[in-house]
Amino acid sequence: MPTTIAIVVGGGSGSRFGGPPKQYRRLAGGAIFRRALAAFAAHPRIDAVQPVIGADDGARFAAACGDLPVRAPVTGGGSRSASVRAALDAVLADAPDRVLIHDAARPLVSPALIARVVAALDHHAAVVPGVAVRDTLKRAPAGTIEATVDRRDVVAVQTPQGFACALLREAHARGDDATDDAGLVERLGVPVHVVEGEMTNLKITEPDDLALAERWLATPRVPRVGTGFDVHRLAAGDGVVLGGITIPCGLRLVGHSDADVALHALTDALLGTLGVGDIGTLFPPSEDRWRGADSALFLVEAGRRVGSVGGAIAHLDLTILAERPKIGPHRAAMRARVAEILELDVERVSVKATTTEKLGFTGRGEGIAAQAAATVLYPA
Ligand code: MG
Repeated sequence: MPTTIAIVVGGGSGSRFGGPPKQYRRLAGGAIFRRALAAFAAHPRIDAVQPVIGADDGARFAAACGDLPVRAPVTGGGSRSASVRAALDAVLADAPDRVLIHDAARPLVSPALIARVVAALDHHAAVVPGVAVRDTLKRAPAGTIEATVDRRDVVAVQTPQGFACALLREAHARGDDATDDAGLVERLGVPVHVVEGEMTNLKITEPDDLALAERWLATPRVPRVGTGFDVHRLAAGDGVVLGGITIPCGLRLVGHSDADVALHALTDALLGTLGVGDIGTLFPPSEDRWRGADSALFLVEAGRRVGSVGGAIAHLDLTILAERPKIGPHRAAMRARVAEILELDVERVSVKATTTEKLGFTGRGEGIAAQAAATVLYPA
C-alpha cells in the first residue's frame, strides 16, 4: 500500500469573527482545527497527519489539539502555498507516495470523502473534490449584473486535494502562490481529476458558516436497517464469482451479470435503507449493458446513493448459504473486497457462511443463496 500523509493547513491568522484565528473557534465542543485533524487521524487510509500552524499559535495549538495522534506541527510561511511547502519539507523524511492537502477551516470532511480522494489517486496524479453549482452565477463587479456565467461546466472546488507527492513538490518548486494546490498543478499542464465533493464539507469563513456547521452536527442521526436476499443457480464452469472475488473451482454462478449473489444481497440491503426499489429496478436485466457486468458496479452505485443524501454506512452483515464451494478459506478476502468497494473500514463489514445441512437447493449444491443486512445512519 502506498504511504499517504495528510497535511492540514491552519496557518492563517485572519478571522472575521474577531479574536483568535478562526480555526481555533469552538464548534460543538472542540476547535474547528481539531475536528479537521481528527477526521484524518482516525481514517484507515491515512498513515500520518501533519498540521501547519501560524507563527504565534504554538500554545493555542497545544491546548486545542495537543493530545491528538498527529505529527508535531510545523510553522507556516507568509502565504497558504508557503505553508504547504513548509509541510512538504517536513514530511520528506517519511517519503510519502501521496499527500492530501486540507484546509483546517473545513472540519466537516467525511470519512467517505477522504476515501474517495485516496481511491482516485490509484488512477490519477491529482484529485480534487468538486460540487456542482446549484445557484445561477452572475458577474456583478459593482453590484450591478454584467453577465450570466454558464454554470454547466463549473464546479466549486473543495479540499482535501490529493496528489502524487513528487508531482506536488514539482508544482511548488518555483515558489509560486495560488489559492489552492490544484492551481499550481494546473500550471504544469497536468490534468486534475474531479471527484464528487460534499455540500456539507463547508469552509468556515463567516459566523453564519459556523452556525450552519453547528446545526449540521446537532442534527440527530437515525439508523435505518435494510435487508437483501438473492439466489443464483450453479453450473459447471471455471470459477465462482462471490463476494467480489473469484473462487477457482469447477463451478460458476449463472445470471445476467457476473451473478455474484453476495454483492447482489448487499446492494439490495443498502437500497432497502433508501426505499428506492431493488437491484432489478436500478439495473434491469432487460438492459444489455449489464450482461456479464462486475457486480461491484451495482454496489458502488448503491453506496453512492446512500452517501448523496448524507447516509453513513454503520455496518454490513452478509451470510452466504452454500454447500460448495467451501467459503471459509475465502471469507477474509471477501470482507476486504467489500470494504474496498464501498471504501469502508473493514471492521464495518461482516461476512459469514453456512451450509444448509444438505437440505434444499443449496444443500443439494444446485445454487447459492445470500442474505445481508445493512445499517445506515441518516440525518433525521
Ligand atoms: Mg442476483
